[in-house]
Amino acid sequence: MEDFFTYAEQLEKPEWQRLRLKIIERDGQKCQLCGKGKSVSAKFDNKIINFGIDYSLKICADQISDKILTLEEFKQCLNINWIRCMRNGDKIIAVTSNNPCGFLVVKDDKNIPPQQDLMVRLIGLSNGTLSFVITDKPEIKSLDYGFYISQTPIILNVHHKNYILGRKAWEYKDSDLVTLCNECHLSVHKAIGVKVYADENGFMTEVKLTPCFRCGGTGYFPEYRNVQNGICFRCKGRRFEEYKYGSCDS
Ligand SMILES: [Zn+2]
Ligand SMILES: [Zn+2]
Ligand SMILES: [Zn+2]
Repeated sequence: MEDFFTYAEQLEKPEWQRLRLKIIERDGQKCQLCGKGKSVSAKFDNKIINFGIDYSLKICADQISDKILTLEEFKQCLNINWIRCMRNGDKIIAVTSNNPCGFLVVKDDKNIPPQQDLMVRLIGLSNGTLSFVITDKPEIKSLDYGFYISQTPIILNVHHKNYILGRKAWEYKDSDLVTLCNECHLSVHKAIGVKVYADENGFMTEVKLTPCFRCGGTGYFPEYRNVQNGICFRCKGRRFEEYKYGSCDS
């Protein structure tokens, strides 16, 4: 069953990449548990900061200040030198040259309007920090998302709710797949695990396997693709403790 040993390779194949994008699209580009979208990163004083859209945060009208600042006024009031706009999915995020409060963000348009058409509204977050939204629409009332900052990159994984031995990553029904961020993905594997089935002529029997203690059975950390192709050091991509030494996948 060679496919089983090359699971990490399967996840790089176009068949999987296509299905993966379709599922992430279906799930609204966000983790179905915590609501985070994937992060983008920016450099501040040689430090990389990752941030992105958190769809579980709702900003309501009374958190948004009535005062409208121009970008220039805003830069002066925060003593910042620049604001850079970065795309995150179909949203655009604004980043300032320092991060006093969370340096946030923007508007739903794919196109960034010219700077003179943009204005800034300050947002008081419930945790006491200040955020802001940059928009070309002065009448903005509420936002159905907020922003998060993360030390490590957040990426979106597509999780298999169960594994069927011998099936390739893309040989599953859409309903067996769900979008999770890398952090929730690992927690789900560690806390709940994934049931493994053997398909015997269409008859599914559960197989008792112990997910790898390090990767929780994912076998793979796509966010560490640049380190040994992201393959888990402990199980070498074999995903289950029983298969750790690669001797018994028959
Ligand atoms: Zn998550
Ligand atoms: Zn998974
Ligand atoms: Zn592992």
